[in-house]
Amino acid sequence: TPRPGPVAYHRGAFVDAATAQLPLSTQGLHYGTGVFEGIRAHLLDTGELAVFRLDDHLERLLAGARLLRIDVGATRHELTEVVGELLRRNGLATDVYLRPVAYKLGLLPGTRPGVGLSGVSDALSIVVSALGNYQPEQGIRCLVSSWRRPARSAIPVRAKITGGYVNNALALDEARSAGFDDAILLDDRGRVAEASTANVFVVRDGRVVTPPADGDRLPGITRDTVLTLAADLGVPTAEAELDGTDLLRADEVFLTGTGCGVSPVIGIAGRPVGDGRPGPVSTVLRDTYDETVRGRRPGTRGWLTTFALE
Ligand code: PMP
Repeated sequence: TPRPGPVAYHRGAFVDAATAQLPLSTQGLHYGTGVFEGIRAHLLDTGELAVFRLDDHLERLLAGARLLRIDVGATRHELTEVVGELLRRNGLATDVYLRPVAYKLGLLPGTRPGVGLSGVSDALSIVVSALGNYQPEQGIRCLVSSWRRPARSAIPVRAKITGGYVNNALALDEARSAGFDDAILLDDRGRVAEASTANVFVVRDGRVVTPPADGDRLPGITRDTVLTLAADLGVPTAEAELDGTDLLRADEVFLTGTGCGVSPVIGIAGRPVGDGRPGPVSTVLRDTYDETVRGRRPGTRGWLTTFALE
């Protein structure tokens, strides 16, 4: 018998991911009225899957959903159970990526048409895929994008709102088209905002600096983890605004995100960062982060939610 394909959680049920469907009128598709998360689970030496900072990801998802008046229809605790069941049903004995998306579905009877958020039904889907490390060991090269991050007064960039990712997509497309691996975006005031799907850090004179996550950027969960791990390692950290010049004169630059982990940047806009190789601080933080998410270090602070696959 052929192995069944991937299972998704879709509108309250566990279904075959390949044939799950949505109406063509789905509002989230038309207006970008959805919120999503990117979550990783790692296969531990024990054979269990450990989801990294699941509570924090679910909390951010629920906060974003509230902003868009989306009723996810489940508590954080219930969503944790759903994630566990989904991992068991998929039975992927490998590192896994989880992508929940909560979105506006369709107008309820008697509701006036329009882009309004009330009077529209809501839905939640979660897809799962196998995903290992995809960043090159030798580091990545970034373009400083000609696209700016939208101001928080235009779009709540602190939430992972699907429609907002048009900005990120255009920036990454511009960078890739020009032969770079990723884009670093400034905001409308010329301050370093984020990479396409990661927060930005610089290292200068042994100090690790990243812009504040005060509403003008996504408060990255990896960002928070790295600030905590740096403190554990006795590396001084600071949250301060940076501009394009700070990127060019940094000793090291690295990105942080659930997808990319800690990703050293070895070139910016055609110039080498430092000596053009991953620097010592980026490297130790990358290794410490990778060991932490795999439960191979003490001090994981309840960050791992483990599920047995059987
Ligand atoms: N900024 C943006 C715009 C992102 O999409 C992401 C990825 N979620 C991040 C930063 C990093 O956030 P996290 O570490 O929580 O994955």
